[in-house]
Amino acid sequence: MKLLIADDSLTQRVMLQAIAKKWGFDTILAEDGLQAWKVLSSADAPRLVLLDWEMPGLDGPEVCRRVRAIETEDPPYILLLTSRNETEDIVTGLEAGANDYISKPFNNSELLARAKVGKRMLTLQSELAKAKKTLNFQATHDVLTGLMNRRAIMDSLKKEITRSQRNKQILSIGLLDIDHFKQINDTYGHLVGDEVLKEVAQRMERVLRPYDHLGRYGGEEFLVILNADRGQEVAPFERIRNAISDKPFVVGEASLDITISCGVTLGKSTTEEEGDGTKLIAAADVVLYEAKANGRNQVILAK
Ligand code: GH3
Ligand code: MG
Ligand code: MG
Ligand code: MG
Repeated sequence: MKLLIADDSLTQRVMLQAIAKKWGFDTILAEDGLQAWKVLSSADAPRLVLLDWEMPGLDGPEVCRRVRAIETEDPPYILLLTSRNETEDIVTGLEAGANDYISKPFNNSELLARAKVGKRMLTLQSELAKAKKTLNFQATHDVLTGLMNRRAIMDSLKKEITRSQRNKQILSIGLLDIDHFKQINDTYGHLVGDEVLKEVAQRMERVLRPYDHLGRYGGEEFLVILNADRGQEVAPFERIRNAISDKPFVVGEASLDITISCGVTLGKSTTEEEGDGTKLIAAADVVLYEAKANGRNQVILAK
């Protein structure tokens, strides 16, 4: 683990570096508060820090304050080294954002014990951040396809409506539904149906741009939200339709010709009544139904 040693005294630095190396840390040295701040505000900064209080430039507590102002999932563990040991000073140091302090002169085994606590806290902190990330992903994504789930894509729609109203952009919303999907399940079984759903999602993702939004709206229905160029509002959906229909889906022994129908509606970027997007989706649903009635495998834009 990388350890930053920030102390303006050369003797202290050398001594701390020697013992930290002996304990197995990769050490980085800073000669004053500004250097320490530079290291801690850089990318891939060390997460365990021995920080002297009295230093020219920025003192230890000031470095702490700056570090704590950075928004991050992975804040460093800061051990303040100080010859001050009045309660008032300790409070100041901890309130500035230090995790712990140790008074100089200190005992090496106490310093090691405290550094180990820091290491342990950092490990717990990373595990927690990882678990949070996983939970957040699970709450917003569909297990089968890995796409955003209904709640997440509806949240994106709300945000995009607000953003398009501010930027005066055209919002294109497409509701897509696989044609005769029930027949696939009935003929080849549910597992083959699942594979088709996954590949439909992949083919859609491949033709969309990274900043377009794609989610699984329900069973075999998908919602796409994108900022369209004027006159090109339908083009992305035609691209999706072609990507699905242009070559068969090969699942096990079966080769399946799959098609998709799509209803598109445009956010008019003026009305507040678009609100949470349910009206826009209802409008897309109406033309999706038309596309189905009209023979499927087609995209229809709402008037
Ligand atoms: P249409 O062209 O009119 O859309 O016909 P369809 O057969 O696609 O529509 P319908 O609504 O009758 O059937 C949709 C089917 O999708 C029924 C449902 O069992 C299936 N389905 C929904 N979710 C899943 C899933 O996660 N996996 C599988 N394999 N099937 C699913
Ligand atoms: Mg000093
Ligand atoms: Mg359907
Ligand atoms: Mg269908």
